[in-house]
Amino acid sequence: MAASAFTDLSRLAIHTMTNKPWSLRQCIDGYSRAGIRGISVWRNVLEPIGARQAGKMLRDAGMDVVALVRGGFFPAFEQSRRQAAIDDNRRAIDDAADIGAKMVVLVCGAVPGMPLSEARKQIHDGIATVLPHAEARKVRLAIEPLHPMYAADRSAINRMAEARQICESLRSPWLGIACDVYHVWWDPELQTEIELAGKQKTLFAFHICDWRVETRDLLNDRGLMGEGCIPLRQIRGWVEAAGFSGYNEVEIFSTQKWAMDQAEYVEQIKRAYLECS
Ligand code: ZN
Repeated sequence: MAASAFTDLSRLAIHTMTNKPWSLRQCIDGYSRAGIRGISVWRNVLEPIGARQAGKMLRDAGMDVVALVRGGFFPAFEQSRRQAAIDDNRRAIDDAADIGAKMVVLVCGAVPGMPLSEARKQIHDGIATVLPHAEARKVRLAIEPLHPMYAADRSAINRMAEARQICESLRSPWLGIACDVYHVWWDPELQTEIELAGKQKTLFAFHICDWRVETRDLLNDRGLMGEGCIPLRQIRGWVEAAGFSGYNEVEIFSTQKWAMDQAEYVEQIKRAYLECS
């Protein structure tokens, strides 16, 4: 069953990367002015100021920090690089705790030339290694499956099922899945996997945007909700039927949108959220 339209912005969150030209300060001010409290913070906007100061800014503004984006990138041929990834993920977890984020989103990684099965094993082992730190800092880890067009170099986890298999193996209330419609809308098992994630209490996050039919760039040409072919309201219906009541996080990488006036773009996001999500 399809979900009904939103009538307010209380469950809308925006990823800072959606408004890439803005600093964290500008995102906080821009979203606040637009009546949006939910924010997912990308690490690039923390770099100039540090997580502690960012945390204070976010708290002072009364923002609800959904997630820190992103950790992951576990697989590597060299042991030293695998260890560097572990260290970096621990830092991401610490930063998430400092800014009051409920979770770290994991883009799990892949290495050209490494068999995907080996990459998946290294991802599993990497998550197992950092999970105790996540638990100690009370930060959840959300595995985000990425569209298979990124299997070469960004993620060997391409379907909800692969994320589920890691969750089932490691079994922790601190480990779950970020369901991003851009990456998984095509999956014939999507509804089943969302239902399973609901039962297993691993449905941690829901990311929204749209798939432009005439995609011009594989990374930076995502559409605003309603600009593409994703049956967004149907998928949201599945997600809500599975018990998810968290934020609908708008995450759009778009060279075209980044060239716009960002305050006007936030107004477009609000309209698209209310009319098309
Ligand atoms: Zn996402």
